[in-house]
Amino acid sequence: MRGAVLYGPRDLRFEERETPIISKPTDAVVRISATCVCGSDLWPYRGINPITQPTPMGHEYCGIVEEVGSEVRSIRPGQFVIGSFFASDNTCPNCQIGYQSSCQEKQFIGDAQAPLVRVPLADGTLVATPAVPKDALVPSLLALSDVMGTGWFAAHAAAVKPGKTVAVVGDGAVGLLGVLSARQMGAKRILAMSRHEARQKLAREFGATDIVAARGDEGVARIKELTDGIGADSVLECVGTPEAMLQAIRATRAGGSVGYVGVPHGVTLDGQALFYAHVHLHGGPAPVRRFLPELIELVWKGKINPGKVFDLTLPLEQVAEGYRAMDERRAIKTLLRP
Ligand SMILES: [Zn+2]
Repeated sequence: MRGAVLYGPRDLRFEERETPIISKPTDAVVRISATCVCGSDLWPYRGINPITQPTPMGHEYCGIVEEVGSEVRSIRPGQFVIGSFFASDNTCPNCQIGYQSSCQEKQFIGDAQAPLVRVPLADGTLVATPAVPKDALVPSLLALSDVMGTGWFAAHAAAVKPGKTVAVVGDGAVGLLGVLSARQMGAKRILAMSRHEARQKLAREFGATDIVAARGDEGVARIKELTDGIGADSVLECVGTPEAMLQAIRATRAGGSVGYVGVPHGVTLDGQALFYAHVHLHGGPAPVRRFLPELIELVWKGKINPGKVFDLTLPLEQVAEGYRAMDERRAIKTLLRP
């Protein structure tokens, strides 16, 4: 089979790779219906995370189970399944409290931009949909594999509750789905920070009540201005840069919460500033597995449509163009069809 392999900065190739097989009795092999390019794939693509050897890419996937190992009990061939980027047993102490991305047995799934993927710990990792979905539903189901699950976790971590005021830092796909999550959780006001017209439009469609184009000090001042000088109850940090993290902390009211899901690059926090900020901080790699059953139901019933973040769909063999379009910010997020 052919799949995506990153060789170095902006050198993404679609080339022959080993076809995955069942290598442990707890594995499943899934035939991918759709996969996509993640904002976090751009860190190695841009050379910010160095690549030392040709590296298969992709960690978002959904599709039809092709084969399962002899010890797999709950997942069967023919089912349509969604899994997270971390395989998890779903039984260890960390999984039991809903932190499957800290599973004691976790394994990163990083080769999903391909027609087939091997999923370890299939029973703990994969969740089947009620039936094989119509094609039109596939983008929204795919989004649950990471980007929507991550936006949802950001809103959870920021303690979004009905009637609250929420600010979202970052207008990438995760930030936009953070807006959708906050709306679904009943936030009254949602302030989306974006200076990009197409993204502002989607943010409004997903439920943003206000758009804040200013950044940094000015952005914080604008959030304060819109909240009677207090700050937002909940702030979702969906970027991972020092500027975004500081902006998030400073835009949060005393006693409020920051949910941070942007993978940090160069973020260091000053103890004094943190001490006097009086905010809750919670975040990390989203335990997507915790939310999959609930989010599948919301998509299945047509209550949310997170697949709208995909504004470019390409055949998998054009994966390199999918990366380029996101790198150049011509696309919010690229969906790939094998
Ligand atoms: Zn576990």
